Amino acid sequence: MLISIVAPCYDEEDVIERFHDQIQKVAEELLPLGHDMEFVYIDDGSRDRTLMVLERLAGLDKRVRYVSFSRNFGKEAALLAGLRNASGDCVVVMDADLQHPPELIKRMVELRAEGYDQVIARRTRTGDGMVRTLTARLYYRFVNRLMDVELVDGVGDFRLMSRRVVDAVLDLTEYNRFSKGLFAWVGFPATTFEYENAAREAGRTSWSFKGLLNYGLDGLLSFNNRPLRAALYLGMGLLLCAGLYTGWIVIAALVHGVQTPGYVTIITAVTGVAGVQMIMLGVIGEYTGRIYYEVKGRPHFLVKASNVERKADCPTDG
Ligand code: UDP
Ligand code: MG
Repeated sequence: MLISIVAPCYDEEDVIERFHDQIQKVAEELLPLGHDMEFVYIDDGSRDRTLMVLERLAGLDKRVRYVSFSRNFGKEAALLAGLRNASGDCVVVMDADLQHPPELIKRMVELRAEGYDQVIARRTRTGDGMVRTLTARLYYRFVNRLMDVELVDGVGDFRLMSRRVVDAVLDLTEYNRFSKGLFAWVGFPATTFEYENAAREAGRTSWSFKGLLNYGLDGLLSFNNRPLRAALYLGMGLLLCAGLYTGWIVIAALVHGVQTPGYVTIITAVTGVAGVQMIMLGVIGEYTGRIYYEVKGRPHFLVKASNVERKADCPTDG
């Protein structure tokens, strides 16, 4: 069995070599069991010497493939490029910053042999700060209420996928990619196992709070149209309230005569409704924006340098 390791690298010059060393040790242990390995590294437009390091690794090790983007296209694009360029019978997706322990690959391969198409590593959030853990927990609780696919906290991209899962994921050509959701959407027999989260070895996380917020919104919006439906229900609810209230005022005016006070009510109603309308316009705008990006059909990434043949990064992106 040929196992492809797919690792996106963004400004990882400090760790990438160590990562490769560790993976290679695992590869040596798997070789007697009849498993070959290849490495697909994607340089996501790094500003440091990541590409040089990758070129050197490729020179030393024939099993290394690398693709380097013309600029930073984001981890999702890097993952896509990695999956397209992986030729293995199964693919392991992992971060290059050594937060995903390479030794776990052996465990994944064992579980794959038991017939699972996706072997998912679920990390415990021991290394994370309180705030991030808490926001993550709240987010997942909220999102799973709304979403068509179920997301699990701690489950990231670190997973093994069989060829048919990879092919299925590659068939999803949408521009706004939310891999966590895509992997879950594809289905096939899957199993999950837990591992202890390791702290980042070097460099620093490229996630800002804003980045996480946007990522969260992407997850929420790319898998369902329930926010649109919610807008409809909210509108109907408001209309009903408005109707009841108008009825009440008319009756009160008939019984007690017209009374002028009501300034507070009017202001509250106007601002409240305006606020709700703004939110809902925003929701519609989000979906429209997504459609806009999909319709343009731009490629997910552009390649600057690579040691794999041209076919895999076809410009039509289909
Ligand atoms: N990454 C990438 N492009 C980006 C940001 C990150 O390819 O724009 C890669 C990064 O090199 C790493 C992985 O994605 O291998 C996870 O990134 P990071 O460690 O910053 O995220 P975290 O582990 O904090 O979720
Ligand atoms: Mg990391």
